[in-house]
Amino acid sequence: MAQAPKLNLPADLYGAPLGLETNMVHGGILRSQFAETSEALFLTQGYVYDSPEQAEERFKSESGGFIYSRYANPTLAMFEERMKLLEGAEGARATASGMAAVMSSLMCFLKAGDHVVAARALFGSCLYVVQDLLPRYGVTSTLVDGRDLAQWKKAMQPNTRAVFFESPSNPCLDLVDIKAVSEIAHDAGALVVVDNVFATPMYQSPLKLGADVVVYSTTKHIDGQGRCLGGVVLSSEKYIKEQLHPFYKHTGVGMSPFNAWVMLKGLETLGLRVRAQAQTALQVADALAGLKNQGVQRVIFPGRADHPQAELAKRQMSGGSTLVAFELAGGKTAAFKFLNALKIIKLSNNLGDAKSLITHPATTTHQRLKPEEKAILGISDGLVRLSVGLETPADLISDVSNAVRAAIS
Ligand SMILES: *Cc1c(COP(=O)(O)O)cnc(C)c1O
Repeated sequence: MAQAPKLNLPADLYGAPLGLETNMVHGGILRSQFAETSEALFLTQGYVYDSPEQAEERFKSESGGFIYSRYANPTLAMFEERMKLLEGAEGARATASGMAAVMSSLMCFLKAGDHVVAARALFGSCLYVVQDLLPRYGVTSTLVDGRDLAQWKKAMQPNTRAVFFESPSNPCLDLVDIKAVSEIAHDAGALVVVDNVFATPMYQSPLKLGADVVVYSTTKHIDGQGRCLGGVVLSSEKYIKEQLHPFYKHTGVGMSPFNAWVMLKGLETLGLRVRAQAQTALQVADALAGLKNQGVQRVIFPGRADHPQAELAKRQMSGGSTLVAFELAGGKTAAFKFLNALKIIKLSNNLGDAKSLITHPATTTHQRLKPEEKAILGISDGLVRLSVGLETPADLISDVSNAVRAAIS
C-alpha cells in the first residue's frame, strides 16, 4: 500500500483493545473529501500528479500517494488495513484469488535449491503448487501427516525455508498444532505459512501462535455470499516490504478494486455470519452423530468432543468450524443417493457461503488423487463435506436427516 490510511478509529478504547467486530465494521476506512459513510470504490488504474517533482518523489519513496493500481489502490488499502487489524499483522497485500495469495506467499521468497515441508492434507490447488509447480523451479518438497509432530521434525533439512499447512484441513478437518510446528520450523530456520481459510479470522490467529505468514482465500467466508474471488497475505512489515511487495508489484497478482470493495462489505458481517454458521454446523453435526449406525459412519467436527484432536482444537481455536465432514455407510452409491435426495443444500465445491453447499471430495476436488493417496487422507467414497450456511437450522437438520434415510433405503 502506497499510503498509510489515516486511522479513523482509536488504537484502543480506554486502555482496552477494540473487539474484532468493531474493526470489521470500521477498520482501515480512508474517507474521501466527500466524507462518505460507506467505503468508496476507487475504480481507477492510475493517479494524477500535481507536478513532475511530485511524480519523481512518489516513485522514489513509494510513500505518500498512489502510483498505479497493479500494486496499490485506495479501496485495496482499506481492505488490507482492515485485515491487518483483524489478524494483528503489520502488513498485508490483497490478491486476485486465494491461490494467488498462496502462490505468491511462497514464490516471493523461495529460490532454486530450497526445500519446503507441507502437510499432505491440503486444498487441491495448494497441493499442486507444492508438489508440481515448485519442483519445476528447483524447490523440493516433503509432504507429512500434519497431525504428527515427529514427521514434521524428521522432514526438516538444512535447506528447508518454508513450512506450509492449513488447519483445519480440507476436507477431513484435521488440525495441525500451529505453535509446536512453528517452533520446529523456526529451529530449522524456516518460515511458517498458514492457510487459515477454514478457521476464519474469527476462530484462529496463527500469527499469535507463532506462524510468520497467514493466507486467506477471501472467496470463502470473507466475501461469504458467493460473489467474488480474492485472497490476502498477512505478515510482518519486513516480509511484506522486502519479500512479497516486489513480487506482487511486478507480477500483477493483485485484487481488483471492485472485489476489494465487495470484500470490505463482506467483512462488516463476517462476525455475525461465521458465528451463526458455526452454531448451526454444530447442531447439524450433533444431528448426524445421532444417526450413527443408521446410515452415518463417522462425523468430523472440530467443535465436538469426539474429534480426534478435540484437545488441540480447544487450545488453538476459539470456535468450531462452519464445515462438517461425515462419512455415509455404503460408499459412493450411498453418498450419491444422499446428495441426490437433498432439497435445500446445494451441490457445489465452494464453501463459506450463506448458502449451504455440499461436495463429494472423492469424485470432485480430490478426483485426481490415486486411491492410496485418498486412503491416507481419509477421503473415502462415502465421505461428504458440508459447508453450513445461514438457512434456518431446523431446515438443514431435516434436509440432511431425510437424505440419510433416503441413502440407506
Ligand atoms: C478455496 C481455497 C483456496 C483457494 O482459493 P481461491 O480463492 O479459490 O483461489 C486455498 N485454500 C483453501 C483452504 C481454500 O478453501
